[in-house]
Amino acid sequence: MAEIQPCPNCGKTVSELADQCYWCGKVIAGPPDAITPELIDSLLDVELPMLLDRYACKCLSEQGCYELDGPKDVDVLAKLPRPIRVAYTLISLDTQVNNGGFWQFFTNSSGQIVDEALEDLRLIGATDHIPIVEAAIAINHELESKYPSYANRFERPEPEPTDEEEQAFWTDVEGNCESELDKLASKFYLMEHEDSKWNYFKTYIRDHVSECEHDSRRM
Ligand SMILES: [Zn+2]
Repeated sequence: MAEIQPCPNCGKTVSELADQCYWCGKVIAGPPDAITPELIDSLLDVELPMLLDRYACKCLSEQGCYELDGPKDVDVLAKLPRPIRVAYTLISLDTQVNNGGFWQFFTNSSGQIVDEALEDLRLIGATDHIPIVEAAIAINHELESKYPSYANRFERPEPEPTDEEEQAFWTDVEGNCESELDKLASKFYLMEHEDSKWNYFKTYIRDHVSECEHDSRRM
């Protein structure tokens, strides 16, 4: 049962162990060092995605993923319990698509976890979101198959396409992909409004509490 308290900033209800206020975003404490079943049980449903995502980010950061020569996000995510990875991939998907559509999701560093995000939507059973994200990924894969420097955009040093390739790529993106990706992003927002994936996420987490256990100090 969640022990609750008022947020020191906005006064709305937050759990005693929440690291951040869901309502106003006020950071109350840093992300925890460990995720335990007791912690999960003490949180409100709305607080789960944010806390687990912030915990995953802390692990990625501590493992050196944000350094130039650090490990890849996917490799560190693979070492985390699946429910924690799910929070991370789905928050990335939401944040990127809401800010700049699927194009932003594919081209920011989140582009490295595109397939994982789709797998995680399947895992929680957000069935109506799946075809939308699949269609967007198909467009992205098509671009990757045609343009090797785009496919290898996360390699370091970043590949440099010739001017000719670069021009062909952008003509293709602007002529054949952008409007389709925009339409899919609109469908994605609508679907989120009608049947939020976070409801499926909460059910999944509550059903898999014991699998959430993890200690960042022992990675
Ligand atoms: Zn607040």
